[in-house]
Amino acid sequence: PPPVEKYEYQAEVSRLMDLIVNSLYSNKEVFLRELISNASDALDKLRYLSVTNPELSKDVADLDIRIYADKENGVITLTDSGIGMTRQELVDCLGTIAQSGTAKFLKALKDNKDAGGDNNLIGQFGVGFYSAFLVADRVTVSTKSPKSDKQYVWESEADSSSYTIKEETDPQLIIPRGTRITLHLKRDEKGYADPERIQKLVKNYSQFVSFPIYTWQEKGYTKEVEVDDDPAESKKDDQDDQTERKKKTKKVVERYWDWELTNETQPIWLRNSKEVTTEEYNEFYRKTFNEYLDPLASSHFTTEGEVEFRSILYVPPISPMGKDDVVNQKTKNIRLYVKRVFISDDFDGELFPRYLSFIKGVVDSHDLPLNVSREILQESRIVRIMKKRLVKKAFDMILGISLSENREDYEKFWDNFGKHLKLGCIEDRENHKRLAPLLRFFSSQSENDMISLDEYVENMKAEQKAIYYIASDSVTSAKNAPFLEKLTEKELEVLYLVEPIDEVAIQSLKSYKDKDFIDISKEDLDLGKYKNEEKEAAVKKEFGQTCDWIKKRLGDKVASVQISSRLSSSPCVLVSGKFGWSANMERLMKAQAG
Ligand code: ADP
Ligand code: MG
Repeated sequence: PPPVEKYEYQAEVSRLMDLIVNSLYSNKEVFLRELISNASDALDKLRYLSVTNPELSKDVADLDIRIYADKENGVITLTDSGIGMTRQELVDCLGTIAQSGTAKFLKALKDNKDAGGDNNLIGQFGVGFYSAFLVADRVTVSTKSPKSDKQYVWESEADSSSYTIKEETDPQLIIPRGTRITLHLKRDEKGYADPERIQKLVKNYSQFVSFPIYTWQEKGYTKEVEVDDDPAESKKDDQDDQTERKKKTKKVVERYWDWELTNETQPIWLRNSKEVTTEEYNEFYRKTFNEYLDPLASSHFTTEGEVEFRSILYVPPISPMGKDDVVNQKTKNIRLYVKRVFISDDFDGELFPRYLSFIKGVVDSHDLPLNVSREILQESRIVRIMKKRLVKKAFDMILGISLSENREDYEKFWDNFGKHLKLGCIEDRENHKRLAPLLRFFSSQSENDMISLDEYVENMKAEQKAIYYIASDSVTSAKNAPFLEKLTEKELEVLYLVEPIDEVAIQSLKSYKDKDFIDISKEDLDLGKYKNEEKEAAVKKEFGQTCDWIKKRLGDKVASVQISSRLSSSPCVLVSGKFGWSANMERLMKAQAG
C-alpha cells in the first residue's frame, strides 16, 4: 500500500478548530452549509476553467453535488464534481488558514467578544471547512484535481493536531474528478445522517446554490398487483365457471431509493423581480456575501438594448473595513457572471469607481466573452456602458434610502459611507449632480442633526445668494469661530464642515443649484444686501489710521489689516487671503507634511 504521510496543522488551525467547536455548539448544523458552499465554489472554478480548456468542457454537463446519508452507520458523504485538490492544495487549503471565510470568522468572533455579544451570532458566519468537526469525529476528504493524475485522501480526527494524506487506491472509490467528503458522525450527532433531515437542511441553507444538489431519498409509487383469492372461494369459483372468475387486485406502495433534486437552481437574478420578496433578496445577500446583517437597500434590474445584463446591487449596512478606510482596494464585492457562469469577484474595480467600491452585488452579462480578462474589461466599450448603468442604479438606490421615511437608515448609511461620497465629489466630476443631494452636514442652525444641501437651500433667506460654510475640526470650534457672528446675527445659516475631507469635497462641487459655496473665513466675504455701506464708510474713515498703525507693528506677519463688517462682538479676527488656503486647509496640509 502507498505510504500514509502525517502532517501537523498550522497552529492557527488548531486554535480555530477549538474556537469553532466551543462557540458553535448550539448551531452545529451550519457544517452542511459550509461544505455545500465549498462544493459550489469548486464547481464554479471548474466551470470557469472549462471555458478556456475544452479538455475539461466535455464533462461540465454533470456539475452537481450529491449528498448521501447512511442512517445505520451514522455517515454522511458529500460528493461534488468540481475542481478537486492536488496533494499540495490539500496541505495548503486544509492544513493552514489563508482563506477569507475563516479569517472573517476569527475577526467576528473577536469583535463579538469585545462587544460582549452572544456567540449565536457567529453561527451566521462562514466558518469554513473545519465546521465539519462540529458533528464528525473523523473526516475523510478524497479528491482528484484535473491538474493531477492521482487521487488523494486527506483524513483527520476531531481534537487532533495532525492529519494524514495518502493516495487513494481502492478502485471502488476512484472518481473521475472532484471531491468526496465523508463525515463519520460523533456518537451524539448521528441523527444528522437522516435523509429527511438532510433534505430539510439543504432546502434551508442552499436555496441559492446554482448547481443541482441531489440527496439520496427513499421514494415510493403505488401500483396495482394481482392478488390470489381466498383458496376456498376460488375452489367454489372453479366449480362454477373458471373463465368468468374476476381478477382481484390491490394497491401497494413500491419503495425504492434514488437521487432526488433538492434545491431550486434558477439564479435569483434571472427571476422576475416582481416575484422575488425582500426577504429572498436579503437572504441571497447574506448567503452570497457571508454576511449576518441585512442590506440597507437592494436593486434588481435588467438592461436591454445596446448591452444586455442583469444585476442585483446592495448597499451593505456597515462598512466592513471600518469607516475610515475609504480606499479599500480588493473588496470582492461584485460577482461577475457571463451567461450564468461565475467568472470572478476580482473585477469590482472595473465595474464601479473606487468611491463606490462598498456596493455589493452580482452582475450577469450577456455580451462579454466567457474568457473575459481584466485587460478585456478595461478596454471594453461594453464595460464602459455597463459601468455607467451600474453607477446610476447605485445612486438611485442610495437616493432611495435618503428619501425613505425611516431617517435612521440614511443616518446609518451616511455614518458608514459618507466619506466615500465626499471622495466621489473630488474624484467624479461627472456625477456631481447625483452626489450633491446626498451630502449631509451639521450647520449653525442644526448642530445635532445633519442637514442636506436641499434643506439648506430651502432655509435660505430671500436675498441670500450663496451657501455659507466654515471648515473646522469640530462642531464646537466651528460654532465658536468669530467669523460666524455677523451671519448668526442676520440668521444666515452656515454649514459646519468638520471632517478633514469636507472642505475639498465642497470646493470640488463649487456650487449647488446655482448657489456658490462661500467660505466665511475668507477675506472677501460679502454679505451682499446685508451690507450697510454708509456705516462701513464712516467706520473706515474713523479707524483707517488705526489699521495702518497695526499693520506697521505686525509687519510681515500679516498681509494686510482691514476694517471688517463681519464681526459683531469680537474685536478682531484673523482671516485667510481670498486666494490662500483656509486656516483649516493649512492645518491639514501641515498635518500631512508632518
Ligand atoms: P473558504 O471557503 O472561505 O476559502 P474553507 O475553510 O471553507 O474556506 O475552505 C478552505 C479551502 O479548501 C477552500 O478555499 C478551497 O480551496 C478548499 N476546498 C474546500 N472544499 C473543497 C472542495 N469541495 N473542492 C475543492 N476545494 C475545496
Ligand atoms: Mg468555504
